Amino acid sequence: MLEEDMEVAIKVVVVGNGAVGKSSMIQRYCKGIFTKDYKKTIGVDFLERQIQVNGEDVRLMLWDTAGQEEFDAITKAYYRGENTIESFKAIPTWKEKVVTEVGDIPTVLVQNKIDLLDDSCIKNEEAEALAKKLKVRFYRASVKEDLNVSEVFKYLADKYLQKL
Ligand code: GDP
Repeated sequence: MLEEDMEVAIKVVVVGNGAVGKSSMIQRYCKGIFTKDYKKTIGVDFLERQIQVNGEDVRLMLWDTAGQEEFDAITKAYYRGENTIESFKAIPTWKEKVVTEVGDIPTVLVQNKIDLLDDSCIKNEEAEALAKKLKVRFYRASVKEDLNVSEVFKYLADKYLQKL
């Protein structure tokens, strides 16, 4: 059991190809806003938010991985407008990279921008099958419409606390 007044701080890394919405997701969750391009003005390494999970105070520090050395090889592939298929194909590599660099930490797979869903998008079953193969929980989200964003981080915090 944790002391009542103790706060748990959890570092969360958000990885994925460029333009999938990582920074937007962090911004949405920590500041409650959505913009088309805020990146130029963010100017900090991480944003944080405090929540309560099962009565515990938890401070989540959300790191955007762009520019972090250990993720450089993949972020070099970054460019705006990169297509959905490319970012989907890169997921197993991202997962591997996380395990290698950080270890076997609680992980989720998020399909963002579901407000833009059309026929060119990865099918739900395909995304779910990948999540199952990678043994991670799968969420469909829209940072723009604030759909499932807080659920993702709550789940991760909960998983983390269970491991303590
Ligand atoms: P990052 O490179 O992964 O950090 O991606 P960004 O956060 O910079 O987002 C790339 C673009 O996608 C920006 O123009 C965002 O406004 C947009 N975007 C992010 N999330 C969503 C979403 O859920 N729906 C829509 N329609 N656009 C989004």
